[in-house]
Amino acid sequence: MPTNRRFRNLVRIGPVQVGTYYDGRGREKHTAACTAPRCGFSTGYDSRAAAELAARTHRCAVR
Ligand SMILES: [Zn+2]
Repeated sequence: MPTNRRFRNLVRIGPVQVGTYYDGRGREKHTAACTAPRCGFSTGYDSRAAAELAARTHRCAVR
C-alpha cells in the first residue's frame, strides 16, 4: 500500500486494508490492499462499496 497518500477511513477486513483518499484532482478514490507481505494484492476503485467488497472476497494466496 502506498504510504505517500493520506488515507481516510482506514479499515481492515481480514488481511486487507481499505482506505479512501483524494486523487490529484480532489476526487475520492478507494483502495483495497492486502497486508500479507508476499501477496501484492492492491487495487483501486471508484466506490467505497466496491473496495470493501473486494476486500471481503479477497482470497489471499499467501495464507
Ligand atoms: Zn492477500
